[in-house]
Amino acid sequence: MNIALIAHDKKKQSLINFVTAYKDIFNDHKLFATGTTGKMLQKETGLEIHRFESGPLGGDQQIGAKIADDEMDMIIFFRDPLTAQPHEPDVSALLRLCDVYKVPLATNEATAEILVRGLKHGWLNWRTIKNKRERYDD
Ligand code: PGA
Repeated sequence: MNIALIAHDKKKQSLINFVTAYKDIFNDHKLFATGTTGKMLQKETGLEIHRFESGPLGGDQQIGAKIADDEMDMIIFFRDPLTAQPHEPDVSALLRLCDVYKVPLATNEATAEILVRGLKHGWLNWRTIKNKRERYDD
């Protein structure tokens, strides 16, 4: 599955801790991230991660474009709910596209735990079936 990892600055360490804790699961999937988040995750976890631009420079929109192309299966976005972000419209657009395309989205550790454990147990395999079906429909 294709998984996007994003964290606002004050949440980056939490995401690093989270990905480290579930590294064995993430290792089996294709990982994507916004620029700074991806750089830090690569350094701290050693996982291979495709990095887009930094969030404020368009990285959230690049991930949004992948969602619209049905190329993202899960988004883990540790948002900072207490700090205003210069690229808030991009953040909102990304979250909105998850709802448009029914892409599983976690915006905090509690939900991310459920998603990642579900991933391990195959509860998200419907994503693969759905993708295949859509390709047949093309
Ligand atoms: P960053 O972007 O990983 O480049 O910091 C994250 C964001 O704020 O969207």
